[in-house]
Amino acid sequence: MQTIDNFNFAGKKAFVRVDFNVPLDENLKITDDTRMRAALPTIKKIIADGGMVIIGSHLGRPKKGPEKKFSLQNIVEHLSELLGQPVKFVDDCIGEKVEAAVAELQPKDVLVLENLRFYAEEEGKPRGLAEDATDEEKAAAKKAVKESQKEFTKKLASLADAYVNDAFGTAHRAHASTALIADYFAPENKMFGYLMEKEVKAVEKVMKDINRPFTAIMGGSKVSSKIDIIENLLNKVDNLIITGGMTYTFTKATGGNIGNSLCEEDKLDLALDILKKAKEKGVNLVLAVDAKIADAFSNDANTKFCPVSQIPDGWEGLDIGPESEKIFADVIKNSKTLLWNGPTGVFEFENFTHGSRTVGEAIAEATKAGAFSLVGGGDSVACVNKFGLADKVSYVSTGGGALLEAIEGKVLPGIKAIQG
Ligand code: AMP
Repeated sequence: MQTIDNFNFAGKKAFVRVDFNVPLDENLKITDDTRMRAALPTIKKIIADGGMVIIGSHLGRPKKGPEKKFSLQNIVEHLSELLGQPVKFVDDCIGEKVEAAVAELQPKDVLVLENLRFYAEEEGKPRGLAEDATDEEKAAAKKAVKESQKEFTKKLASLADAYVNDAFGTAHRAHASTALIADYFAPENKMFGYLMEKEVKAVEKVMKDINRPFTAIMGGSKVSSKIDIIENLLNKVDNLIITGGMTYTFTKATGGNIGNSLCEEDKLDLALDILKKAKEKGVNLVLAVDAKIADAFSNDANTKFCPVSQIPDGWEGLDIGPESEKIFADVIKNSKTLLWNGPTGVFEFENFTHGSRTVGEAIAEATKAGAFSLVGGGDSVACVNKFGLADKVSYVSTGGGALLEAIEGKVLPGIKAIQG
């Protein structure tokens, strides 16, 4: 497989698919440029070689063609600051105007194309269908956009000599620029960017190349959204800590009182099934034993600690308690591979961050002692950033959905397109 390090971009045009889907405020100013910074090593390598960088990305979720708030023009100035050189922009991503801009490129130039998703063909999903469209109309529209997607992809590919995918955040999508485009490049001319390489390696470390004991900490709100991952992890981990709002569905399923705590009534059997499977597979499934409970879903609510199965009516568990913290931290500190996805409680409220902080700190300590730790999925990334632990874990993934699908054991189209 070709690697970016082995490729000499001198005099070559590279189409680099990045994930510049950054948050913008109401004045269209970038509020968090993490994703842009993450792609800089790849862009800089191409520039240093004397190549020409053609940047493709999506921004937001445009559903009806061009809109100013979704224009990639909004990020050009900041990219220029980050790179310390001028950056060109063209207000389309295919067609004559773009071809002309590309033809003018000189070695070391950087050109940003307009939002790829201004075309329905990027995602390959029909747009503008009437709400009362029949199934036949829907099928016909789908077929039409899939057809025109081929032409769109071909045009994008024709802009460059090489294809570099550095957009892990969209690697789980089989879109034109993230996957389909790779077919138009010979194996020696397509490769991952540095960010993708790091993400793929980090995922492999927790999926294939596992140092044991392996502990996964799955938090967050709902069992239903994490069930596929949990089932896959049961085949891989030695310890599975299930925490956050999911806790109470398990507590209720086993006969505990959970007061007003979050609970998915229709997932009680599923919770019992997970407990049974964990036992059969010899996985140490760890649940909280105590909770920090509140008399309202609010940072200012009255709080106290109680056993997780004895939550009084009118109270709800919004974080784990001190005994659970100790149990979780002990398991974590004795691990050699760690995966963390999802907080132990409502970490957005300052008074319910303690459990998540303790978990983050235990992971940092284990990492210091030689464990490999991968933190991913929006909220746990927010947690490690909030607690200043981002550089104390082995790897913080930039992928939300993509990371979760990889952990579910799915083959990501963006990765397959390069790896074959
Ligand atoms: P998810 O998006 O599924 O990873 O869930 C993250 C969300 O779960 C965060 O917004 C947390 O506030 C929420 N959460 C964690 N623990 C609890 C809890 N005990 N009760 C309600 N929400 C929770």
